[in-house]
Amino acid sequence: MFTHSRNILLTPIEYLKGVGPTKAELLRSELGISTYGDMLTNFPFRYVDRSKIASIQHIQEDGGYVQLLGKINFSEIVGEGRSRRLVANFKDTSGMVELVWFQGVNMMEKVVHDGGDFLIYGKASRFNGYWSMTHPELERLEKVDLDNFPPFIPVYSATEKLRQRWLAGRNYLKLVQTLFLQITENDIIENLPLSIIHTHRLMNRFLALKCIHFPDTNLNLQNAIHRLKFEELFVHQIGICKLKLNHKKEQGFRFDKVGENFNSFYKNYLPFELTDDQKEVLREIRKDTQVGIQMNRLLQGDVGSGKTIVALLCMLLAIDNDFQTCMMAPTEILAQQHFKGIGELLKDMPIRIAFLSGKSKAKEKRETLTLLAAGEIQILIGTHALIEDTVVFKNLGLCIIDEQHRFGVAQRAQLWKKNTLAPHMLVMTATPIPRTLAMTSYGDLDVSVIKNLPPGRKPISTIHRPEIHRAKVMDFIRTEIDQGRQAYIVYPLIDESEKLDYENLKAGFEQVKQYFPSSKYNIAMVHGKQTVVERETNMQNFVEGKAHIMVATTVIEVGVNVPNASVMLIESAERFGLSQLHQLRGRVGRGADKSYCILLTTDKITPTGKMRMHTMVTESSGFAIAEKDLELRGPGEIDGTRQSGAADLKIADIIKDVELMELTREAAIKLLQSDQDLLLPEHTALRHFLLNRKDKEVWSKIS
Ligand code: ADP
Ligand code: MG
Repeated sequence: MFTHSRNILLTPIEYLKGVGPTKAELLRSELGISTYGDMLTNFPFRYVDRSKIASIQHIQEDGGYVQLLGKINFSEIVGEGRSRRLVANFKDTSGMVELVWFQGVNMMEKVVHDGGDFLIYGKASRFNGYWSMTHPELERLEKVDLDNFPPFIPVYSATEKLRQRWLAGRNYLKLVQTLFLQITENDIIENLPLSIIHTHRLMNRFLALKCIHFPDTNLNLQNAIHRLKFEELFVHQIGICKLKLNHKKEQGFRFDKVGENFNSFYKNYLPFELTDDQKEVLREIRKDTQVGIQMNRLLQGDVGSGKTIVALLCMLLAIDNDFQTCMMAPTEILAQQHFKGIGELLKDMPIRIAFLSGKSKAKEKRETLTLLAAGEIQILIGTHALIEDTVVFKNLGLCIIDEQHRFGVAQRAQLWKKNTLAPHMLVMTATPIPRTLAMTSYGDLDVSVIKNLPPGRKPISTIHRPEIHRAKVMDFIRTEIDQGRQAYIVYPLIDESEKLDYENLKAGFEQVKQYFPSSKYNIAMVHGKQTVVERETNMQNFVEGKAHIMVATTVIEVGVNVPNASVMLIESAERFGLSQLHQLRGRVGRGADKSYCILLTTDKITPTGKMRMHTMVTESSGFAIAEKDLELRGPGEIDGTRQSGAADLKIADIIKDVELMELTREAAIKLLQSDQDLLLPEHTALRHFLLNRKDKEVWSKIS
């Protein structure tokens, strides 16, 4: 039975009656349908409700779809050339609708010529005081079996090409009908275990697939959708949870002791008392690294929550156990800041730190690599240059990845290979991860959270101002500066290489100079096109308080710490992602003063834009903002989601179905607890299903 079913669903779509090679190619290129099975899972995206018949008198909505029953008693072809059209009068007992066809005029003329009773369906529009309907669907009443009339007609996505080649709408629907004539209940294996079906009261798979294409009642349709969403999320979660379980089987190094370096740093050089959250995270990591299994942990904490010091203490722990460590950051600037900051903190300790990036000079790089391979360097900090194969450690025990969302899962895996056993991984992100992504993109990691910021932070007032208030905003910044504070002015940067952004920044710089004459104010400009030295000098000027204003592209998004800065002005704020805005805002509010984040936007901001600004003004929690961002932008645009396949869900919605996702995650965990490798007979179908999925590479990496 199993092989039989596999065969029919794997049949090339070409062999379906009415398809053939040419159409098959189109279906493949336009909709990704190559087999019967693909067509089966190409779900309708909406349904036409034909369970109700309206009367013309009661048509309310201009532009709404209605079904009407009535008579055509007159039709004619009018107009010439492009405006040539067929019009017909359609009446029921309550009123009249004019029907119009611009296409297939001659063919339709034959259909309506003799008049008679029709059932029509289409979009009614108000036109010159009449209702009219262009290109309605229509059927002669005597041909309609009203008792067996399908109440919902599925609508499938189509492309212009498909429409031109008669492969859209009714024509496509006919193919699906043909398909279902060939498929029986025996061909569709139930892939979910019976216990899950029962516990969650799910419709069986065959019925669900049938109902989603040809629903008989709304209730059954909803049940079918629910079942298929459940299946999709459940299978996805099984994959991710399995990956997590496999991590747990991965042997890892033991960091048995807390030694000299850790203790000495803690006692003598730690510049502040750790917060409770920081201590708790350290405890979790300490526990993880003692059991002989590789750690895969995500450290999540809002901007400024103090992740770096936690990372540093972990590195010391590794060093105390005779391991090397590395820390990878997404940008040159951030990597350098870590290098400097950590270097400063460890300057009186007997620990050797090195820096490596794509920009490192050849000679320097060679030296670093030699020392690294010899085990002389204990901490290597850098950009993704660290994952290159030429970077060889003597004994790498711990990798820290800062700002995870810019690195993919694959890059993480590269670091695993740098020692005989995979080193422990600590992934840190300042972008709080929405619940749904935490379950998908990062679902294989254990999560630690720093919830509370270190003490002494002042809340930041966030203000949205349209362009017309620019002068007032500048006046405000001037008062702040005249009171001894400093300000950031940030311009959007889409791509560091994009000339336009740079022009934009330069123009902005000139404009700022008009408000802040150089006779009185120092302005530092920082952007990605400068040499490292130039940028560092300018940045340093600002850090030391010599410059009053720092005009920058988003290079300052991560890193710099200037407690005296009290204003963050963001230009064209509508062009930034919310999480990015939140990160920028986190640059101020670090000192004793009240701080401000001003979002300057165009005067003609879109409603969505307005909503996004409103979110920033009202929300201070990075977590809530990330959720909102996801909602407003969609998961596809959030970095890192694509690798996980989270954005590829076909029927479930990563945002709307978050509760169902939680439910399926629990179910997946429970199932794997009882049968990790899906070897029980009741899990055979599920295992086969996973192994035959299109994205099976993901699964094979897992199993
Ligand atoms: P992020 O989590 O954004 O990487 P950082 O690690 O850069 O944050 O820390 C932000 C600032 O907070 C730094 O200046 C750091 O020295 C300071 N900091 C971190 N932990 C504490 C603490 N427990 N008490 C006081 N200040 C702290
Ligand atoms: Mg940081």
